Amino acid sequence: MSELIDEQADSPRSDFFNRYARLLPGAVALLSMLVFLIAAPFAKIPLRQVPAFIPAYESALVLSDLITSVLLFGQSVIARSRALGALASGYLYTSTIALLHMLSFPGLFSPTGLLNAGPQSTAWIYMFWHAGFPCFVIAYALLNDRKPARITGRTGGAGRLMFIVGALLCLAAGMVALATAGERLLPEIIRNNHYTPAMRWVAGSTWGFCLLALAVLCRQRRRSAIDWWLMVVLCVWICDVALSAVFNGGRYDLGFYVGRIYGMCAASFVLLLLLIENTLLHSRLAAALDELKRLATTDPLTGVANRRAFDAALTAHWQRAVHDRSPLSLLMIDIDFFKRFNDHHGHVEGDRCLVLVAECLTRTVRRANDLVARYGGEEFVVLLPETDAASAAHVAQRMCDAVAALAIPNGGAPHMANVTISVGVASLVIETGAEMTDLTKAADHALYLAKAAGRGRVEEASLIA
Ligand code: GH3
Ligand code: MG
Ligand code: MG
Repeated sequence: MSELIDEQADSPRSDFFNRYARLLPGAVALLSMLVFLIAAPFAKIPLRQVPAFIPAYESALVLSDLITSVLLFGQSVIARSRALGALASGYLYTSTIALLHMLSFPGLFSPTGLLNAGPQSTAWIYMFWHAGFPCFVIAYALLNDRKPARITGRTGGAGRLMFIVGALLCLAAGMVALATAGERLLPEIIRNNHYTPAMRWVAGSTWGFCLLALAVLCRQRRRSAIDWWLMVVLCVWICDVALSAVFNGGRYDLGFYVGRIYGMCAASFVLLLLLIENTLLHSRLAAALDELKRLATTDPLTGVANRRAFDAALTAHWQRAVHDRSPLSLLMIDIDFFKRFNDHHGHVEGDRCLVLVAECLTRTVRRANDLVARYGGEEFVVLLPETDAASAAHVAQRMCDAVAALAIPNGGAPHMANVTISVGVASLVIETGAEMTDLTKAADHALYLAKAAGRGRVEEASLIA
């Protein structure tokens, strides 16, 4: 699961992030309470009727909840988390019911609202909307402590997702049908744009759901960033219902407007968190990919390029050399009597010697395109693009001298006091018909000649391609 979502109260993350992740939601919740306390006494003040405010804010809300839901569904599938699936369902539910609320709102799309809405319908849809979301948060919190679902061979994820989406759309449509077609079955909560006393009971129940959701979130053992932000959403949600359904007098007064602005803010918190998280994930993914590339191309013992990187570089430089008709040289290097070195000093010292030789070879090459790689065991290769035979032999001799100058005692070698290397040099200007293996075979043969000639020396291959 992603880190922001999965972040635990006791996780060893940076102090700054941990503090930031907890302080900011707390500060936002406090600020909302403060604004609520200031606005509540003036909630009944009638303001100018701006019917365009409803479609403007609700369109933004529908879209914001829909995006949040899609992101959360994605996370739930990746993390195989039913909890996130429940939360994603909540956002899809609110997105759908907010859209239907907008369509039914009187005076927007028709004088009495679409969907055959009666005078109570819109207010009831609003209550179903605001009571529904905390129920999904409760489901999220209850499922959150459980283990993620097991991976099975065939998940049937797409079918299940379609089923869930279908069920949620039906649920939202069902609630709206109850508020419209079944309007007469419900108590009267609004009359002539003003709320009746029954509204307090209905709004009170909505608060009840919010408080229950808050309590269930609070009792969680582990709390992630998303949990903290959901608590803020619920606090803001309570202010929203209080201002726009309890403390105000009806539509288009101060409480009505401020409450809806609260609703808009609540909808954006989790979305912002998910978007920030996605950006962080991208940067972490890019860094991890770089590290993966480095690990895949580096020899872990010596830190020089590995065989895979050498093969890739040889192919690339071979093609360039064919194209430019430029010379390409290869040095094949083998440490002399290394088996005896190991036998005498032990493998740990042997490894240390390999590291020293690799560092020495790397120091000796000068051009940016030259590549030192570990070919295997105690053998190294050096690829020298745009380098002719004479220059390559010169580099090879420099390497021989540099390794000898390290003066690593080779206690096991006969006749030789210090560790030495033998180098085979192959160089060619590539003609059509030449193959890449010609170069490696020639360098290998030259190395064999250097060994046969007594070791600690450079031999050149006579190669005509
Ligand atoms: P020559 O002069 O003919 O090259 O003799 P040599 O003993 O170096 O030749 P050989 O290829 O027979 O032995 C190579 C030895 O290198 C065998 C093995 O013990 C040692 N070796 C290979 N890889 C490693 C490694 O990663 N670490 C250590 N410590 N030794 C290694
Ligand atoms: Mg060898
Ligand atoms: Mg050797």
